[in-house]
Parts: sequence; structure tokens; C-alpha cells
Amino acid sequence: MNMQANYIAGDWVDSSDANDNINPSDLSNVVGRYARASAAQTEQAIAAARAAFPAWAATTPQQRADILEAAGNEIMARKAELGELLSREEGKTLAEGIGETMRAGQIFKFFAGEALRTPGEKVASIRPGVDVEITREPLGVIGIITPWNFPIAIPAWKLAPALAFGNCVVLKPADLVPGCAWAISDILVRAGLPAGVLNLVMGRGSVVGEAILSSPQIDGVSFTGSVATGKHVAAKCAESLKKVQLEMGGKNPFVVLDDADVGVAADAAVNGAFFSTGQRCTASSRLIVTEGIHDSFVNTVIEKLKGLKIDNALDPTTHIGPVVDQSQLDQDLSYIEAGQKEGAKLAWGGERLNRETEGFYLQPALFTETSNDMRVNREEIFGPVATVLRVKDYDEALATANDTSFGLSAGIATSSLKHASHFKRNAEAGMVMVNLPTAGVDYHVPFGGRKGSSYGSREQGRYAVEFYTTVKTSYTAP
Ligand code: NAD
Repeated sequence: MNMQANYIAGDWVDSSDANDNINPSDLSNVVGRYARASAAQTEQAIAAARAAFPAWAATTPQQRADILEAAGNEIMARKAELGELLSREEGKTLAEGIGETMRAGQIFKFFAGEALRTPGEKVASIRPGVDVEITREPLGVIGIITPWNFPIAIPAWKLAPALAFGNCVVLKPADLVPGCAWAISDILVRAGLPAGVLNLVMGRGSVVGEAILSSPQIDGVSFTGSVATGKHVAAKCAESLKKVQLEMGGKNPFVVLDDADVGVAADAAVNGAFFSTGQRCTASSRLIVTEGIHDSFVNTVIEKLKGLKIDNALDPTTHIGPVVDQSQLDQDLSYIEAGQKEGAKLAWGGERLNRETEGFYLQPALFTETSNDMRVNREEIFGPVATVLRVKDYDEALATANDTSFGLSAGIATSSLKHASHFKRNAEAGMVMVNLPTAGVDYHVPFGGRKGSSYGSREQGRYAVEFYTTVKTSYTAP
């Protein structure tokens, strides 16, 4: 099988090491063989980005917008093919894969517009005759490190603003899902990016990631992944005073009040907790339910789970695809065991499933009778596992929702304006959803969290400019 190469300094370059990209729905199916960059190749990529930076930073916003627009159009035109690639390498359903691909296209087109709208200010000076201008300049060379669970959308929402505002990039996708990152790099290169502006270095975090963090030539690192790796990234960036932005895990609460529509609440809970196999940082992993609606809510959720088809991601009738790999499956199963040992009741699912093709299939698991101090309620599981916490009223629900070290997304199902408004103001999360799943966001508004979920400035929408530019204040006397 041919190796898909890294892209360094304007050339596609093989490596001595390579990675077989395996389809988690069918372990006999190899998506492709992808080169794994060495530390030396990563350093070459960084040097190429540094060399390309002055000329790229000096391009007009129109030149950058045209490239991003063309890339966005190609991604959208190829949504069926790229969506299938995504589903093959990550295991989310075909519909989810195509939806994520469309999202990536929309993000590139949005940031094509943002390149033209790079903001600045002119303000009055306190000194007579002096002009003060505040302008934004590109940060420089950005290291982009991404996780496996959104193989095309997360690289897109970091690459697009980085390039729109005139930065050069070294992209390191997760080792499990190099295919989508390779495809969008190829599209961007053919859309007209000059050599060195974008470099793709696939491979291991311990090799490629470390080389990015250790390089004095990197000005900023945008990272999405786990809390443990994120803390390490932040510490390494602090040593050399690199700008850093981290998006990490979640343990997102979804509150259901007695006055909620039980069908709406159960739909939002099932979607938020289990779709995309629960492998979303915004997944509704803690369902916090008041006493009066508890039993009917749990019964409705279980009825809905019984109707879901867990099978090969490429089968169009599948609702939930497989877990991404063996080690994530082991993690999910170990939490399912831990929950039962801690005294939680496994009300539905949790067992491994065999399907026509050999894959990492897991029946979604719902725990009831849990308390918020159990490990299944404290730690991110990152799989199709959710818990129900029974509470007496709204006040206890809010306190339980906020009793976590994470703060990415929080949701509430209620027909009470009073409780919805209070929850929006008092939920300790970066994103709040009313009568909607905790997962599922728009691309033109900021994305991010609080506490252990995020660090640094927000991603996406107009707020992305904060990370990818640096501010200059100029004073001019006549
Ligand atoms: P991970 O932390 O294991 O890996 C993330 C990336 O960091 C990968 O590219 C990996 O190769 C790289 N990496 C690993 N070690 C490194 C090192 N020493 N130096 C530099 N880079 C290194 O995370 P994952 O398992 O790929 O993704 C799952 C996690 O991502 C979950 O915790 C999930 O909540 C989180 N996530 C967060 C968001 C968000 O926006 N908040 C979105 C998606 C996923």
C-alpha cells in the first residue's frame, strides 16, 4: 500500500515510520498507510514555516480569502467522499461524517470573510495632535495539535483562522485519524498556499508534538485534547513563553426539571450523551433529574436507547457507530465496571456487541441511582456512557451541575423562563443550552469552556482573532 506522505516546505515527504489507519467498524479494513514524521522532519517543517512567514504575512487579505474560499468550496463539493473517509477512520456514522465535513467547509468560508474583516481601531490620544492606532498583526508560526474525535472540524477551526490572519502553520493531527487532516492539507495546498505556509506532520505526540512544544521558532500552540496532555502543553509553552490555547475535556451536566417536556428532554439527553458514540467533549454525561419527572424520564430514555441501531458506521441505517479503538473501548468498559462496583445501577446496556464486521461495538450504557462523588461522575469517560443523578429541586440540580472540575457545556430542559434564565446566568460553563443537547454548536460564535475544560482565549467565530493575532499600538505625531 502506498504511503500518504507528510507535507513539509512545499513537498510531500515520506518517512521511515508509518501508521496503518484502521477502520474501527471493520478491523480488516485499512483506510490507508500514513507517514509518521520524525523529530528532525518536524524541525524542518517549523523552519519552513518560519521562512515563509514574512511573505505570507504581507499578502493581502483578498489573497488569503480567495484560498480559504476555494478550500471551503472543495471540501463541501466532496462532502460525500470526505464524510465517508471520516466515518471509516473515526467510526462516527456516515450522516455525522458528512455533517462534520460540511461544517469544515463552512468554517473555511467563514474565515475567508474574516480575513477581509481583520479589525483595528483609531482612538483619540491624550496628547494634542497625536494619533493612536491599534492594529492586529499575525502571531507568527502556529503549532496546531488536534485530537481524534473531530478529525476534520477541529483541524479546520484552527487552520482557517490561523491562515486567514496571516500565520504559518505546522499541523499535527491525532495519530489515530491522519486521513482527514491529510485531505484538507492537500486541498489547501492545491487552493494555492505558497510553500512553507502550511506543513503537515503526522505522527506521535511524544515525537512530533514534543518537537513542536520544544521549538523556539514556534510562537503559539493551539491544542485540543485531554486535560493531562493539555497541562503538559501549557507547562512546556510557559517555559519558552509561547502563546497557548487549550480546549480539553468535559463532564457536562444536563438538568431535567419536573416542568420539562419529557420527550424533548429525553431526545436531547440521548442525542447529547450517546450520538457520535459519546465521544464528544460536549457530551451530556451527567443527567441531573428532579424527583417528579425522574422515573418517566429514565423510562423514556431507555425506550429510545432500545430503538437505536449500533453497527457499522458506513451502514446508512446505523444510529451509533463503534468506539474509536481498543484502548478507548477498554477505558469505557473499565468505567462501566467501576460504576457498578461503586453501587450505581446499570439500567441499560454497557456490553460489548458482535456485528457482521469485527469492530469496537459497545451498547450505550445508562447508570441510574448515582451520586456525584462516584468516579463515573467525576472523570471524563469519553464513550457512550451516561449517568442519572436524582435531585430534589432546581437548587440542588444547579449545585450538582456546577460541582465538577470541568466547565465546557451545560444544559437544562425546562418550560420555566425563571429557571432557564437563572441557569444561563449561574451555570459555570462556557456554553449553556436550554431545551437543546449539550453538544451541537454553531460555527460563527465562540466555542470554549471554564475551569479544567479550557485555557486561554476562545476559539471560533470573531473571537478567534484574539489568539491568532498580536496587538500593536502605534502613536503618530504630525
Ligand atoms: P490526547 O490528549 O491524547 O491527544 C491530543 C493530541 O495531543 C494528539 O494529537 C496527540 O498526539 C497529542 N499529544 C499527545 N502527547 C503529546 C505530547 N507529549 N506533546 C504534544 N502533543 C501530544 O487527546 P485525544 O485522546 O486525542 O482526544 C480526546 C480528548 O480530547 C478528550 O479529553 C476530549 O474531551 C478532548 N476534546 C476536547 C475538545 C474541546 O474543544 N474542549 C474537543 C474535542 C476533544
